[in-house]
Amino acid sequence: MSRDINSKFWNEELETLPREELEKRQLEDLKEIVKFAYDNAPYYKRSFDEAGVKPEDIKTLKDIQKFPFINKKTQRDTQGVGSFLGELAAVPEEDVVFISTSSGSTGVPTMSPFTKKDFDEFQDTESRWFWQIGMRPNDRYVHALNFSLYVGGPDVIGAQNLGALCIWGGTLPSERLLFILKTYQPTVIWTSPSYAWQLGEKALKAGYDPKKDFNIKKIIVAGVLGGSIDATRKAIEDIWGAEVFDFYGLSDIFGACAAQCEYHDGLHIAENHILVETVDIHTGEVLEPGQTGELVFTTLRKHARPLIRFKTGDIGRIDITPCKCGRTHGRINILGRKDDMFIVSAVNVFPSDIEAVIREQSDLTGEYLIRIFEKDFTSKYAVEVEKAAGVAKDDDTVAAEVSAALKARIGVKPARVVVHPDGGLDTRSEHKSRRVIDERNIDYNI
Ligand SMILES: [Zn+2]
Repeated sequence: MSRDINSKFWNEELETLPREELEKRQLEDLKEIVKFAYDNAPYYKRSFDEAGVKPEDIKTLKDIQKFPFINKKTQRDTQGVGSFLGELAAVPEEDVVFISTSSGSTGVPTMSPFTKKDFDEFQDTESRWFWQIGMRPNDRYVHALNFSLYVGGPDVIGAQNLGALCIWGGTLPSERLLFILKTYQPTVIWTSPSYAWQLGEKALKAGYDPKKDFNIKKIIVAGVLGGSIDATRKAIEDIWGAEVFDFYGLSDIFGACAAQCEYHDGLHIAENHILVETVDIHTGEVLEPGQTGELVFTTLRKHARPLIRFKTGDIGRIDITPCKCGRTHGRINILGRKDDMFIVSAVNVFPSDIEAVIREQSDLTGEYLIRIFEKDFTSKYAVEVEKAAGVAKDDDTVAAEVSAALKARIGVKPARVVVHPDGGLDTRSEHKSRRVIDERNIDYNI
């Protein structure tokens, strides 16, 4: 490979484009993709006509605001309609080389098709993220993500294309994974934040010292929030003696669409592929960069199934000011899923806020469970935590301290805090932990 391994950039020209030039390229691609979608995807033809908009209306990036939104439901309603790929697809099936599907955890799984070019650009973007966190051809990399249908599976190809030695781990049982870490001494691993945490604990219990027996220097986490919560990241880093990087992906777009750099101040998003808008979660009104709202993405270069103004369901913000690393692509911060947000006493609460508080308490193990319930027609939340082994304080004192810390951070106290002994909560699952239980039967429309 001719790339200079001392360069911090995978593609310096692209990653450091002056903002004006980046937006100029975005506009060219936006014009092209909106026209391509209109000409080839039956859904867009119909919805643009109904909204009275035409591809030629795009003269500036802001003109995208004239176009209608789509969401997960649009995907579900149109897939399989008219053809196997459905009405959002803009290419015939013979041009498609890969499909991933979402987990279906919030309904019918949705399928995301890629042309050969879409797929190659996807992997080039993944190489860029791996390079950004410091992976180089002399690294050994374990891809410990699900390969079945999941869009994050193929991201390992991005690491291979970069030249790293790749171990296609998948979702191995933890004993087997620990064996690989010990025997092959890989330097980089990607897994979920909860699993990175639990695997570390299992390693300790199995008699390993993760800092000495393994050679992990970097841990990539994605999938659930955690990698961007400083206290969680720090807790994982302390167990492994490795640096944790948060990635963000969408099954509808790429395994990773955004990734932290060495400054860990938000996640650089591939703005050459994704036009980011932030909109008010209630009204859909477009907000300014820096303001918090629902993130809306338009894919600028995916031809198999263009997404024009896709409401992601993720609440966050984008910072387009320059990053210290020299990259000019904006940085997103995700606060949580719109579906996970709940309102207590008129305050928007995200489970990630609660997690941040709990992970900062030295008397706790860090495991937690949140219950959201209704009492007297208002939503309340309760938190269950585990007291760390060896803590002398009584449970009531620990509960009162947790309650006060939550009140200070979030603004509303939990209805109760239940303190369990170490290991008393059943939240340590192998790959995905369920930590929020919603016991309300009213479906708040938020
Ligand atoms: Zn940066």
